[in-house]
Amino acid sequence: MRLAMVIDTKKCVGCSDCVVACQTENDVPIGYCRDWITETVNGTYPNLTLELRSERCNHCDNSPCVRCCPTGASHYGAGGAVIVTKNECIGCGACIESCPYDARYQHPDGYIDKCTFCHHRVSNGLLPACVSVCPTKCMYFGDLDNSHSEVSQLLRNRKYKTLAPEAGTKPQVTT
Ligand code: SF4
Ligand code: SF4
Ligand code: SF4
Repeated sequence: MRLAMVIDTKKCVGCSDCVVACQTENDVPIGYCRDWITETVNGTYPNLTLELRSERCNHCDNSPCVRCCPTGASHYGAGGAVIVTKNECIGCGACIESCPYDARYQHPDGYIDKCTFCHHRVSNGLLPACVSVCPTKCMYFGDLDNSHSEVSQLLRNRKYKTLAPEAGTKPQVTT
């Protein structure tokens, strides 16, 4: 199983419902976030387009955050999701420095936190909270090892990109 998220930026309206759902579902402290909205302007004046993206940890296949963690707190979980075991984290912050996507933050309790691909929901057959609330259904989540899954079909049939591919981290989130 290789879990992945596909985000259709043409359908995103930047409402931030995914951000609020994540904060509520995962008890993210006020002032911090596991996901966020990015706005990118493409083209040259007067032919400009605005791309809105819901971003989070990319659950990279080749993650520097896992490699640099001195305690093994950052590791690959089920389906390749990158997870932090909080009671093994010493809060050294090496993983924050190593992440090209700025996807991690230090929780006020000292450990490092980030998107988990909602493994507590996914392991019970539910979709991640952010995916489940999106009013325009612009986020898709599933198994890339299953050729019939929605995410596999989307990547087969549409143009897509990953963020900062030059970092060589092999992200599992595409837009
Ligand atoms: Fe690690 Fe950052 Fe990749 Fe997430 S996005 S797996 S935190 S390197
Ligand atoms: Fe590992 Fe925690 Fe240090 Fe990050 S802060 S590298 S998860 S021990
Ligand atoms: Fe937050 Fe879960 Fe979505 Fe990750 S998958 S951004 S933890 S709601």
